[in-house]
Amino acid sequence: MTAQLEAIVQFGFDNSYARLPDRFFARVAPTPVAEPRLIKLNEVLARQLGLDPAQLASPEGVEVLAGNRVPEGASPLAQAYAGHQFANFVPQLGDGRAVLLGEVVDRDGQRRDIQLKGSGPTPFSRRGDGRAALGPVLREYIVSEAFAALGIPATRALAAVTTGEAVARETMLPGAVFTRVAASHVRVGTFQYFAARSDVEGLRALGDYVIERHYPEVATAANRYRALLDAVIARQAKLIARWLNVGFIHGVMNTDNVSIAGETIDFGPCAFMDTFDPGQVYSSIDHRGRYAYANQPGIAGWNLARFAETLIPLLAEEKDAAVAEAQAGINTFGGTFEAAYRAGQRAKLGLMTERAEDSALADDLLGTMARGGADFTLLFRALCAAARDTSADLAIRGMFIDPAEIEAWLVRWRQRLGDEDGDAAARAAMMRGANPAFIPRNHLVEEVIVAAVNDADFAPFEKLLAVTARPYDDQPENARYAAGPKPEQIVRQTFCGT
Ligand code: AMP
Ligand code: MG
Repeated sequence: MTAQLEAIVQFGFDNSYARLPDRFFARVAPTPVAEPRLIKLNEVLARQLGLDPAQLASPEGVEVLAGNRVPEGASPLAQAYAGHQFANFVPQLGDGRAVLLGEVVDRDGQRRDIQLKGSGPTPFSRRGDGRAALGPVLREYIVSEAFAALGIPATRALAAVTTGEAVARETMLPGAVFTRVAASHVRVGTFQYFAARSDVEGLRALGDYVIERHYPEVATAANRYRALLDAVIARQAKLIARWLNVGFIHGVMNTDNVSIAGETIDFGPCAFMDTFDPGQVYSSIDHRGRYAYANQPGIAGWNLARFAETLIPLLAEEKDAAVAEAQAGINTFGGTFEAAYRAGQRAKLGLMTERAEDSALADDLLGTMARGGADFTLLFRALCAAARDTSADLAIRGMFIDPAEIEAWLVRWRQRLGDEDGDAAARAAMMRGANPAFIPRNHLVEEVIVAAVNDADFAPFEKLLAVTARPYDDQPENARYAAGPKPEQIVRQTFCGT
């Protein structure tokens, strides 16, 4: 064996999805780009995946990450899926600009997809060019890694490369390819694809695949598909609760963007809120506010009802019995969401015990914040200090147009804290772990994108990544990154950039 003939980049792929029936995907290789250049490699994640960062950063590795070279053992394919987009059902969407290279089993024994996004056209591209622009790639990189640091389930960023090619959007923009890592890319829309074709065998194969890969604990349940439904709903309900408790707005909660594994996926026009407003919408395409902040639990329930419907052929022999199972599954969403959401709120407020009146205490704070124009992240972080020391109240009062309402709320909150036994230090630690100081604020992400796109300056990108990698630490030297936007910095809209 000579060194020249050996592939330099070794992934150790084991591609279970590619072993599913042919109608689950289209085999397609990425389309090479003119001039691949590595912008960022996530070395820690690479090692976690059992990959060698030096190999990935080598010229051959960068060719792989750009789609110019198909690595040994890959089974490149575009997955078929359908989906409800803004409530309209589209029977065929599929990976129009992404190619799954394959799967690796990571150091914890978890199977992970490695996918190139922006890697050129596929049979599912419809009118799209199969490409991605640099700005949205950097946004997805930053937000997915911020989620990982926050401890919220999400797909991960392994790498970003520029292509040396321009992509035509409203203007010509630099092109990029993003390497995404996911527990899998199976979506609610994947189930809808087979349901829409009345392909019950396909549905069963997909259901069994998902159970084996993501929910092995339900494999032996008396009704494994009903157990699968409940398990998917539970993960999704807990995920949405996490989003709300960090002020996150996904922006495009279409059923094709709902991961069956319960990860946040497809960071398009997403954003963290600055000033708290339950009706906040950022996405430029969400004209009616369907995916506004406070609508997210309801939309998740709606999306999961669509998932439940796809399972009807598998849930029982008799149609009526199957519908009843689907409905019973759907009915579990509200309770699971509410419990997770309220538990998250109690941690944010420093409450270790649970009382019936705690929901009202939290809701009244949110209402006060909305009326007073308080910044979501700054307010909750300030409460961590205020739990120990009333001198922090000055800063909190300063966040409100009229502080009278928050002053009354602080009195109520302290009375409630007075009923808790736990020591102040433990409470402060819990609160600081539930109330991040650093999130990738919109105006900071914008700054990163402008510097990268206009000046090929990636220093702001690196800096924001480093700061948001430690969201719960005080970083006094990075105070600028904790602050809300100045009036002229406020971002009011975000774009899919597709
Ligand atoms: P998204 O809004 O990113 O979730 O994408 C919705 C659908 O549009 C998926 O089927 C994508 O693969 C497809 N799509 C988005 N952008 C492009 C593009 N530039 N070229 C081809 N297909 C695309
Ligand atoms: Mg999508």
